[in-house]
Amino acid sequence: MKVLIFSPHPDDAELGMGGSIVKHKNIDDYVVIVYVTSGGFTDNTKEREQEVISAENILGANELKFLRWEDHNVKATEENREKIMDIIKEINPHIVYCPCPEEQHIDHKAVFEMVSKAVNVPLYLYEVYPGMSPVEEYEDITNTINKKMLALKEFKSQKCDLAEAYRHHAKFRGIMSGIEEY
Ligand SMILES: [Zn+2]
Repeated sequence: MKVLIFSPHPDDAELGMGGSIVKHKNIDDYVVIVYVTSGGFTDNTKEREQEVISAENILGANELKFLRWEDHNVKATEENREKIMDIIKEINPHIVYCPCPEEQHIDHKAVFEMVSKAVNVPLYLYEVYPGMSPVEEYEDITNTINKKMLALKEFKSQKCDLAEAYRHHAKFRGIMSGIEEY
């Protein structure tokens, strides 16, 4: 199966669904990640791209594409929506992922707006900013969370311990799911 993940910034796909990327790879799915911006608020786009390349060496995505649109300025214009549609056509995935629209970041909202209108295969929404979106489905990442934690340690430019924060978040979601404590 071919899986296409839209990541507004370098790290969203890894923070929001790093454990799921490993699960897809474990069943031999082909995973493509499209990074819409490369961050860059602090002028460190090259470093951010290098960090996701290192993180994905651990998680295992097959292809990484960098669109390099302007950070904090992604707009759901007709022109941009057509570009997104062309990318989906070119990759021709079986399923698509993008962040939830409830997340407050304007780039995340714009990416959702464009992708949700362009896609004609199942679309799954992942959570990047904990606690802002209603949960409809839980993904059990008990067996893949350690790889996710290793990958998150590659995001050194973020100047905070993302691995620790997202381990707690996974534990919280695990308890809330009522099924498993991660
Ligand atoms: Zn983001």
